Amino acid sequence: MNMVFETILKYLFKKPLTVRFPYESLETAPRYRGKHEFNIDKCISCGICWRVCPNQAIRMVPAEDKKKYPKLYPEVDLGKCCFCGLCQEFCPTGAIKLTTNYFMSTPNPDVLILKPGKKSKG
Ligand code: SF4
Ligand code: SF4
Repeated sequence: MNMVFETILKYLFKKPLTVRFPYESLETAPRYRGKHEFNIDKCISCGICWRVCPNQAIRMVPAEDKKKYPKLYPEVDLGKCCFCGLCQEFCPTGAIKLTTNYFMSTPNPDVLILKPGKKSKG
């Protein structure tokens, strides 16, 4: 029997290895480094995340609610981020974390800028 035919027969009745993205998606590894989550209440505005970021993806900016949050807080540009996780690793309070969310494709680059104190979409 020829090799191609053998291979076709072998895989014909097997479950597909691929998924029908975006209708289905694969589960990530528990330590997968995806989109950031920022808890402004835990942030002490030390700026360490900004200093350690190798891609200059973080800027320290004022929060929207300047009365409640009068200091500078990290704003993450996911378009520049390489998802190294250093910001999370060095943050002394656990205010910035990378989640397993990898749904970030968008035609609008503004959506990729995570403003401090604002709930990001998706
Ligand atoms: S994951 Fe790495 S590249 Fe992305 S914001 Fe954090 S430190 Fe910067
Ligand atoms: S997120 Fe963490 S490292 Fe960054 S400024 Fe806030 S407390 Fe400091």
